[in-house]
Amino acid sequence: MIIDSSIYEIWFVTGSQHLYGEETLRQVASNSEEITKGLNASKHIPIKIVFKPIVKTPDEITNLCIAANSNENCIGIITWMHTFSPAKMWIKGLSLLQKPMCQLHTQFNAEIPWKTIDMDFMNLNQSAHGDREFGYMVTRMRKKRKIVVGHWQDNKVQKKLGIWARVVLGWNDLQNLKIARIGDNMREVAVTDGDKVEAQIRFGFSVNGYSIADVVKLVNAVTEREIDELVEVYASDYDLTPSLQENGKQRASLRDAARIELGLRAFLDKGGFKAFTDTFENLEGLKQLPGLAVQRLMADGYGFGGEGDWKTAAMVRALKVMNFDSNKGTSFMEDYTYHFTPEKSYVLGSHMLEICPSIADGKPSCEVHPLGIGGKDDPVRLVFNSPAGNAINVSLVDMGNRFRLIVNEVEAISPKEKLPKLPVARVLWDAKPDLETAATAWILAGGAHHSVYSQAITTAHMEDFADVAGIELLVIDKDTSIRDFKDKLNANEVYYHLFQNNL
Ligand code: MN
Repeated sequence: MIIDSSIYEIWFVTGSQHLYGEETLRQVASNSEEITKGLNASKHIPIKIVFKPIVKTPDEITNLCIAANSNENCIGIITWMHTFSPAKMWIKGLSLLQKPMCQLHTQFNAEIPWKTIDMDFMNLNQSAHGDREFGYMVTRMRKKRKIVVGHWQDNKVQKKLGIWARVVLGWNDLQNLKIARIGDNMREVAVTDGDKVEAQIRFGFSVNGYSIADVVKLVNAVTEREIDELVEVYASDYDLTPSLQENGKQRASLRDAARIELGLRAFLDKGGFKAFTDTFENLEGLKQLPGLAVQRLMADGYGFGGEGDWKTAAMVRALKVMNFDSNKGTSFMEDYTYHFTPEKSYVLGSHMLEICPSIADGKPSCEVHPLGIGGKDDPVRLVFNSPAGNAINVSLVDMGNRFRLIVNEVEAISPKEKLPKLPVARVLWDAKPDLETAATAWILAGGAHHSVYSQAITTAHMEDFADVAGIELLVIDKDTSIRDFKDKLNANEVYYHLFQNNL
């Protein structure tokens, strides 16, 4: 499992006031507890929801927000105003609150009981206006939050809460994420670099540089016995190409790959790194480029970015955590080459080596082939296709004065023909709304050549993520038109220039 999600909590916070008397407040509390139970029973919500005593005064609200901030297991709060909770009471608490917030605009009772409804019923079930008073203050204070509207037992509502819960789980992981940048950036490359200090302020994760020599020491310390054991795992998990099988003529390459994996894994685990980058220009002391090692580490939940791309490494990790329990995959990706035809055009996505087998269609083939780049021994890698279906590509770029998140919805399709000579894992996709529009918009937005490709995470997740992080989001989907997209880019330039310090 990528992460132990069972230790995390989302607090369910109900606002009210003393105006209604003890009996009504007891009813409010019992209704809130029942909603909490209902949400915990939902298969759509992967994180435990914890009922908190009703808050009725400014002090109770403030203390609750301070407690949420300081509780390591609390990854966010859901607020609901069953009754009316005058919002000036919330100013101090909201100004202190550092955890993500979701405003659940629901009502305990689904339908109006036409025959029996009276003023008591109305006064108890008044979130329709209670949540507006609260919402005004959150908006007035310019605090970003998720709003989910509808009855709490409705699947649509629970699904939205589930998406937000996954996003705040990923966000929480970023707050403590350490990224090892092994060997700095590929020389002269722009988009993979950026402001690491600002990124830590904005997202929480830290990026620090390490020499490949730190990894090589651990690679050299790996024992033959450890290698024997790992090579057996390779043989059972993958189809080994004949030359890599026992007594095959390149068996030594497989053992070298296993040695690199064990050393790299030891380096990451020793330093508490859950994401890393490398670059082929700084691999002195490794016999081959870490292909198989990186692929397998990604499959175990480590974030990765090639050529020093720490932003993509962070996002691979965040999306993997959001998707911790699903059998659908997430991988580091690069738009590699195009298939242009007059009718329809496609992208073939891949990388030199490092595509995560979590997106593989079936058992990957483990192969060894020469690689023109890097000047090393032939690297071992997993080769596979990826299944057809919906996916997204995500790119986080540094615009100089802010971070921008770009999402393109795509549909993976089965390759048109076999690719017998292509020695890397790959995905063929149809970019929405079409390649011409999608690539135009992506390039106008400054989207990177690297991205995170995910079959499990959707635009809805990334929209919540952008709000939690307080960053710009640009979506390229079936509705994108270039003329509108240009207007959006221009409008955002002004908006983020004016408000960059207030989000
Ligand atoms: Mn690359």
